[in-house]
Amino acid sequence: MQADILAWAVPATFLTFGIGFALLGRIGAGLYAWSGCFCLAALAYALTVIPTPPGAIAKPLFEDSLFLLALSGANVAFASRAGRRPRYGVIAAIVGASLLGAYLALRLTGSAQFEIFSIQAGCSLLMLLAATTIRRRSGRMMDQVLFWLCILVAASLGLQNLVFLSTPLDQPMTVANWRDSPWAFVFQFSGAVTGVLIAFAILAAIGLDVIEHHRTSSDMDALTLVRNRRGFERRVAELRRAAGPLAPGAIILADLDFFKRINDRHGHEAGDAVLCGFATLLERMVGTRGCVCRFGGEEFAVFLASSDLAGAQVFAQSLQSALRAVRWPFALADLRVTASFGVVALAPGEHLWDAASRADTLLYVAKSHGRDRVIADAIAPASAPARTAFAPAS
Ligand code: GH3
Ligand code: MG
Ligand code: MG
Repeated sequence: MQADILAWAVPATFLTFGIGFALLGRIGAGLYAWSGCFCLAALAYALTVIPTPPGAIAKPLFEDSLFLLALSGANVAFASRAGRRPRYGVIAAIVGASLLGAYLALRLTGSAQFEIFSIQAGCSLLMLLAATTIRRRSGRMMDQVLFWLCILVAASLGLQNLVFLSTPLDQPMTVANWRDSPWAFVFQFSGAVTGVLIAFAILAAIGLDVIEHHRTSSDMDALTLVRNRRGFERRVAELRRAAGPLAPGAIILADLDFFKRINDRHGHEAGDAVLCGFATLLERMVGTRGCVCRFGGEEFAVFLASSDLAGAQVFAQSLQSALRAVRWPFALADLRVTASFGVVALAPGEHLWDAASRADTLLYVAKSHGRDRVIADAIAPASAPARTAFAPAS
């Protein structure tokens, strides 16, 4: 009776997780895949508790298929988390070979021992395959945890198989008497423990992903997906810390010329498309040399981590030419978008927003001299100029 309660506790636990993942599905599509895995595993474990008539083949094979399908689903879920395509071919080959082995074992020898060996080997291989899908260098700690859990499950199944095959049995194991053997207990107990560990690891991984997503999205501009002022300030501080106190550094402030006209003539959506296009151009050209921020409506800032004034001026001129040369799509095809630029070098220890304020003054010199031009500071300051009131609005 107690053994039965334990046996039913396993599918009940898996089902609880399956339902829980389905309820959390809105957080990320990957959770529905996990829900499917746990529900399939719950059904498979539930069927193993129901007695099997001697000589039956269909029921054990159906249970086996459910276990293999559950772990195939785990592969799909891990691949979706890693942004990779699931290896359907390899999965199908493992499932097919494992089921064929189980079928032949039951048909030819009537032995549940070889049938279980074949299915556990298939499950072990599917977990190894899942481990290879995980991006271990993603920088997410939980990916490492999930990787080692997959290896643990694969190793546990492989070890059970070795012990299972090498242990002499008192009587031949059939599908009917397997359920009352100690092997069934080991199978259920190890499945429950590793299943619960994996479920908690997935929940932790998803929780941490959500926190990270909110942290990064609060640093991003929602329209152009470049950094906002807050994100820019953080990233510039990181880059300046990494480069050291004596490293050069420069700020370029860019403002699109007559942008209001684009909105007025082509509509606000066209204006948005131009803003996104300019932001993408800046990000592409700046690459790993620094970072980009949308400073205000149609105003952007670029920080170059290791450029001096002359280098930043040349870079701003290349931005100016690249913007002029952009071929805008569709209705904007004949549009010629330009921008004005103010360039300054950061003095050692100078506050970011003070340097930005100086660049802003130069930007307005560029505007008043006819726009579509780069105005760089006359000299790079040797020490931090006096503080000005150009702090971020947000
Ligand atoms: P200037 O050459 O002097 O910079 O002229 P301008 O027209 O670019 O500058 P102005 O400050 O007169 O107008 C900026 C316009 O940018 C006004 C505002 O409606 C528009 N704008 C601000 N944010 C957005 C946005 O997110 N999307 C769109 N489409 N327009 C925006
Ligand atoms: Mg403008
Ligand atoms: Mg402006």
